[in-house]
Amino acid sequence: MALIVQKYGGTSVGNVERIKVVAKKVKATKDAGNDVVVVLSAMSGETNRMIALAKELHENPSPREMDVLLTTGEQTTIALLSMALHDLGVDAVSMTGDQVRLKTDSSHSKARILDVETENIEKHLKQGRVVVVAGFQGRCQYNNITTLGRGGSDTSAVAIAATLKADECQIYTDVDGVYTTDPRVEPNARRLDSITFEEMLEMASLGTKVLQIRSVEFAGKYNVPLRVLSSFKDGGGTLISYEENKMESPVISGIAFNRDEARLTLSGVPDQPTVAAQILSPIGEANIDVDMIVQNTVGNGNTDFTFTVHRDDYQKAKELLEAVCVSLQAESVQGNNEIAKVSIVGVGMWNHPGVAKTMFETLGQEGINIHQIATSEIKISVLVDDKYLELAVRSLHKAFELATEPKEEK
Ligand code: ADP
Ligand code: ASP
Ligand code: MG
Repeated sequence: MALIVQKYGGTSVGNVERIKVVAKKVKATKDAGNDVVVVLSAMSGETNRMIALAKELHENPSPREMDVLLTTGEQTTIALLSMALHDLGVDAVSMTGDQVRLKTDSSHSKARILDVETENIEKHLKQGRVVVVAGFQGRCQYNNITTLGRGGSDTSAVAIAATLKADECQIYTDVDGVYTTDPRVEPNARRLDSITFEEMLEMASLGTKVLQIRSVEFAGKYNVPLRVLSSFKDGGGTLISYEENKMESPVISGIAFNRDEARLTLSGVPDQPTVAAQILSPIGEANIDVDMIVQNTVGNGNTDFTFTVHRDDYQKAKELLEAVCVSLQAESVQGNNEIAKVSIVGVGMWNHPGVAKTMFETLGQEGINIHQIATSEIKISVLVDDKYLELAVRSLHKAFELATEPKEEK
């Protein structure tokens, strides 16, 4: 007998018909002799609907009350799925994050999981019940309800699977696996049978939202076999594993992209020690994450300092940088919040020096200007104008022949 954790996302539980389909899938897994824990998202659109409601009442709603509000979405679906399971004769019990004692830190709307107690879930499993857990939510040390950030149900599922030492954590969604890029942008994208944790982590951190990045971190850290599958059609999905696929050893595995980027440059800063720290300190103190950083010495004792932030933080970061510009007697602040980041990812890239050349030539042939470049052993990211994002993704997908199955390396 295996222990399976199944997570169903918003579209998979988007209406009563879908919930009935999920109930049947859960029943089939249980009937096959497995113990089953189900983790659910809110119905698709629900979380956004509630955020909009809150904004109608207050420009800047209390983070604590936001979390109380948003967790109701998952509380609704766990009760409904349990009822659907009862209707099929399956003994099922719903549990909120608090009831499974999923403990988090106290940073509302982006809380981190500290601990999950297995006792409450195991008690029900032992009695033969399917346990249906509300994803995305926990409780902090101050007794407040917290949420784990958008897409956080993935992380709830993996954390529960890790604690219960589940045999597999299955993430059911509206696509039948992880593709070479978002199939909504490139219809020729190809489903991958498997992808390494390293690559999936990179893809998730570079904007691929099929899995929340922290769920991949957790699965990698606690060695939880993780699989992405469709709740709409049958198939083996994509396994995220430590094993590099020997048959498929592609140079590039996928293309990730992120539209939520903004770029800021402080020009004419004195080229002296501590300057980078002085520029970034107020940004860090305002809790703004900084991503790609470039410093360029321009030769006259001055330097230009450029970095990217999330588009939502653009105005705030710009204001803070303008104050730094005055205090450092720098020349000017420039900003652009109509840019996007496109990245190619692959563990096979490091020993193929022609990859960057192919990427830059491809973008050049399409007339797409590159504003900034960042590299690591397994990725190359470029910033481009956001109006060229789709074109960049599709032309790179073609240039790296991602639509066709890679051949076995001799
Ligand atoms: P859920 O509500 O089930 O959590 P999400 O919307 O969070 O679903 O994630 C699924 C979506 O991720 C897909 O509909 C797809 O458009 C998008 N996506 C982006 N990049 C990829 C990729 N490389 N492979 C598969 N799906 C991707
Ligand atoms: N309902 C939450 C969201 O929309 C969590 C999730 O779906 O994973 O982000
Ligand atoms: Mg999701």
